Amino acid sequence: MPQEVQGFGVDYMILGEGEITLPMFVEALERGEPQGHFTTTEKPDVTITPIPRYELLEMDAYDNMSVQFSRGCPFQCEFCDIIVLYGRKPRTKSPEQFLAELQRLYDLGWRRSVFLVDDNFIGNKRNVKLLLKELKTWMIDRSYPFFLNTEASVDLAQDEELMELMSECNFNAVFLGIETPDTDSLAVTKKFQNTRDPLIESVQKIMRYGLRVTAGFIIGFDGEKAGAGERVIKFVEETPIALAMFSMLQALPDTALWHRLKKEGRLLDEGANINQTTLMNFVPSRPIEAIAQEYIQAFWELYDPQRYLDRTYRQFLLMGEPQHKTSLRRPSWVVIRAMLTIFWRQGIMRKTRWSFWVYLVHMMIAKPRNWQHYLSICALGEHFLEYRQLVRSQIEAQLAAYLELKASQPEPDALESDQVKAIDQKTVAA
Ligand code: SF4
Repeated sequence: MPQEVQGFGVDYMILGEGEITLPMFVEALERGEPQGHFTTTEKPDVTITPIPRYELLEMDAYDNMSVQFSRGCPFQCEFCDIIVLYGRKPRTKSPEQFLAELQRLYDLGWRRSVFLVDDNFIGNKRNVKLLLKELKTWMIDRSYPFFLNTEASVDLAQDEELMELMSECNFNAVFLGIETPDTDSLAVTKKFQNTRDPLIESVQKIMRYGLRVTAGFIIGFDGEKAGAGERVIKFVEETPIALAMFSMLQALPDTALWHRLKKEGRLLDEGANINQTTLMNFVPSRPIEAIAQEYIQAFWELYDPQRYLDRTYRQFLLMGEPQHKTSLRRPSWVVIRAMLTIFWRQGIMRKTRWSFWVYLVHMMIAKPRNWQHYLSICALGEHFLEYRQLVRSQIEAQLAAYLELKASQPEPDALESDQVKAIDQKTVAA
């Protein structure tokens, strides 16, 4: 959204992928140019991407290190900006190049999790399998120094070989964009890959390979029927998925959704805010009040301390365990302190303390290679407990402002659609 910062008088605007535009910027700096606008629409070949200068990082300040294997995704979800930014033809690095990045992290002494930041790691399945076969040997030779996690499309569940390879390479988590269990909404948003097989079965299949699934959910699709929030809760509980990242639909600039809504005169704000504490930036097909109330309620219930703890426990019972012992470092003081904090808050202070200890002991016995991973997800509950308060108070405040403005106008039935839009615009501005 370069237009948003342009008005603030920035000196340098660097757009497009860095392989092309960062050198332009650096050259301009070297020439002493005080301003510049560097842009490209070209999609660079990522096999020329240099190894990141990880040695410049204060590594102890991080929980995960980031690496990237590919850019782009072959699918066409209407709301997605990834395909706008990176294209629908996935570009991948070579296995040697990617392993050299991991080797650099290894040489620097990193022995914790590594996040493959690809928006869809399995966008090019052939190249991913070639990589994983080499990565497997690399991992064995170094006694599995890292846990890996990434993001992928749900069709991962259709490829046993791929899931097996990921498991053999020590992947222990994957983010899936499920969006909604409503197949009509999935079709509306052109997420057809999520409609091929029953979603619960697909997610459980992935989890049995030892991959903890985190999933994204969205409410507010066109044509959505009342009760969408309840259906998301039911899906998340049934599967079960501990971490459900829930938000109201936003039309991100330049996406197919954004262009369609613009054409239909339904955009309220040409920018977008993907924060989970903001109302939608367009006029939805059912009342915004209903969507917002369902959203608040679902967020609140999903992150109820007892429900979250139960769900996390059930998810880890269902999950497969890592196939190998890793050569992670002994826990640092930071990790020990975090553990003690969790024991204090969840094991002593909170009402759920009995479940916490019973589940933890059972997990240590039933899943001895997974109990630390389980505990780390319990710890994340601390964030969501606080965050659900924020979601509720901020959405309620925005909704109240919206309803107040609406009440000060003639009866909604009497309003023309452009008047409704004007009210909505004022609310967004407020
Ligand atoms: S699968 Fe994910 S990355 Fe690919 S188009 Fe859909 S939302 Fe975007």
